[in-house]
Amino acid sequence: MPTCSRCNQLVDSQAVSCPHCGNELKAFGHPGIPLYQAKDTTYLCDRCIYHEDDSCNYPQRPYAKTCTLFHDKSLPLVDEWQFSPPKYKGIKGIQFWFSANRGLAIIILIVIVSVLIAVI
Ligand code: SF4
Ligand SMILES: [Zn+2]
Repeated sequence: MPTCSRCNQLVDSQAVSCPHCGNELKAFGHPGIPLYQAKDTTYLCDRCIYHEDDSCNYPQRPYAKTCTLFHDKSLPLVDEWQFSPPKYKGIKGIQFWFSANRGLAIIILIVIVSVLIAVI
């Protein structure tokens, strides 16, 4: 469960504002748009990957205290598992394969059923 950047109390991950201090936690009042906030006297841009690669053109750069686009430069931009999916074994591995290859599984199932109908 995340904490409020102002009062450090635990808050619901879907909360639009902090129920303890009223701090705005999501942008535009929408629970799906995170609003990143700097703590105390720091600025988000100092830790942002878009400041480091000079690709940000937001007017609040480099002194952003809040930002919807912030991405911590110490974290990868893309989830690593997309390139190396987790290794599951047994039933979990089969379930993962089916969820990742649903279209292929349906085609294989249709071929098997067609063959069974032709044989019977
Ligand atoms: S995306 Fe936001 S936090 Fe990052 S450099 Fe731009 S203004 Fe700063
Ligand atoms: Zn708070």
